[in-house]
Amino acid sequence: MDFNDSPEEAEFRRQVRAWLAENTSEFSAYDYDTMSDEEEVALCRRWVARKAEAGYAAMRLPRAFGGMDATPMQCVIYAQEEARYKLPFNYFGITLGMAVPTLLTFASEEYKAALLPRVLSGEHIWCQLFSEPSAGSDLANLRTRAEKEGEEWVINGQKVWTTGAHLADYGILVARSNPELPKHKGLTYFFLDMKSPGVEVRPITQIDGGAEFNEVYFSDVRIPDSQRLGEVCEGWKVAMTTLMFERQAAGEQSLGLIDFEDLFRTVLGIDLTDGPAIEDSQVREKLVDWYLIQEGLKYFGYRQLTALSAGRPPGPEASLGKLLEARGAQAAAGFATDLMGYEGIIKDPALAPCGGAHQSAVLQAPGIRIAGGTDEILRNTLAEKVLGLPPEARNDKALPFNQIM
Ligand SMILES: Cc1cc2nc3c(=O)[nH]c(=O)nc-3n(C[C@H](O)[C@H](O)[C@H](O)COP(=O)(O)OP(=O)(O)OC[C@H]3O[C@@H](n4cnc5c(N)ncnc54)[C@H](O)[C@@H]3O)c2cc1C
Repeated sequence: MDFNDSPEEAEFRRQVRAWLAENTSEFSAYDYDTMSDEEEVALCRRWVARKAEAGYAAMRLPRAFGGMDATPMQCVIYAQEEARYKLPFNYFGITLGMAVPTLLTFASEEYKAALLPRVLSGEHIWCQLFSEPSAGSDLANLRTRAEKEGEEWVINGQKVWTTGAHLADYGILVARSNPELPKHKGLTYFFLDMKSPGVEVRPITQIDGGAEFNEVYFSDVRIPDSQRLGEVCEGWKVAMTTLMFERQAAGEQSLGLIDFEDLFRTVLGIDLTDGPAIEDSQVREKLVDWYLIQEGLKYFGYRQLTALSAGRPPGPEASLGKLLEARGAQAAAGFATDLMGYEGIIKDPALAPCGGAHQSAVLQAPGIRIAGGTDEILRNTLAEKVLGLPPEARNDKALPFNQIM
């Protein structure tokens, strides 16, 4: 394991630090806890445009498309340095991490030239229209239909949990074009204008009061064949490429969900009925647990970075980091709010201890344990691909989709 930057990495870090120091002050001055979503989205658009001017918005892209041909390690260094600043929430995660690299790989030169600059200017947000009510972990089970009519495809069906669909200008979509083929083989991949007639976006209100997800309904939505990405019925391969880009993007950013120092500060401020919480042996034992998890994850992260720095992409063992961090963060936030007693149920940042950060974390953690692979799916990946245990039975894999049920 190598903890140090190579001379080239250190020089790149120096450049990034200098650029961030010069360009963040305007954005760090805002109070993001109290501003409306609309204001934060507007600031995020400006921040993306600012980063794009220097090539930092989509670093992996070729220079011709506004990137800097960056290595994975340079992306990690940028993410580490940017994380030191208070900046608007990143509403472009799916756009830049999934949609843009998929377009770059599969779209025509005309579409790339027309669409990519509008992302980098902060104008266009994209969403990912994959999951459906009966297709999440088993994505190949999806039922939204795509039927060819002349030079167009007609889309009918429903997607769900579509992050940011209410903000999105465009979406990447997987639909079933041939139900007579086995489930992974009858899918086709498209992108579409979210303002097309027949697209209806319905927000889903979350337990924390936010509404970042949506149901999206398609009623006779028409997509030109030129907006097909990949071959007809080869949509599974394109979708796997998108998910590979998602994993890459996730691997370049630490989730940073467990903040031991913050937890420690919270405990220092709490009094139990028989004295300060920090003097309670059970509380101290728990704190040691969170410290060990955080440190274990930090060194696991260094191991991944050492591999990345040597040019080895993240393998299936990367699932371990997300599994431990998301579960650990949920338990740590639950522990902090339990210790707060009645104050643990107050979420208003103006009234709650520590600005309600632990309360928010309790409510958001279940979603983090599901997004990008549920705990159980990550365990399956670790069992099959890392430990070499026998794979799950997948009896429906070779059956025509329309004969599965
Ligand atoms: C924060 C968040 C953001 C999201 N954003 C998007 C988005 O932008 N676009 C999009 O398309 N989707 C999005 N999703 C949806 C996400 O991809 C799915 O929720 C996820 O794939 C799980 O699918 P599901 O909800 O249908 O649950 P299911 O797959 O039905 O799972 C239900 C339960 O069964 C378990 N399970 C399922 N299969 C197995 C198995 N083989 N072995 C053992 N246990 C199993 C699961 O672990 C889970 O506990 C988002 C979800 C979240 C939480």
